[in-house]
Amino acid sequence: MTAQRAGERAKLKIGPEHVAWVKEEMCIGCDQCTIVCDDDAIELYDVKMRSPIINVDINKKAKILREPCTGCGLCVLSCPTDAIVMIDR
Ligand code: SF4
Ligand code: SF4
Repeated sequence: MTAQRAGERAKLKIGPEHVAWVKEEMCIGCDQCTIVCDDDAIELYDVKMRSPIINVDINKKAKILREPCTGCGLCVLSCPTDAIVMIDR
């Protein structure tokens, strides 16, 4: 873990008063967050591709289910694009 990553981890808002949030524009639909979430609090949904130069019909985005989310923060650490943040519940 890099020093920068360790610093970010120390600043994470973790706990039941917090909930994860996905910045949709930064999510690449890689599915890493759903693998680490033990509480089944993340779903992927389909969105249409906006770029006319990429020949793929559907892209995936992650969505947090607020009720089952325990605020553990694991998904934030798993996301390769830093698309997930922890916010106040
Ligand atoms: S904070 Fe924890 S419980 Fe909530 S979505 Fe992320 S991994 Fe799942
Ligand atoms: S790990 Fe990040 S980029 Fe991958 S699906 Fe989850 S939120 Fe999106």
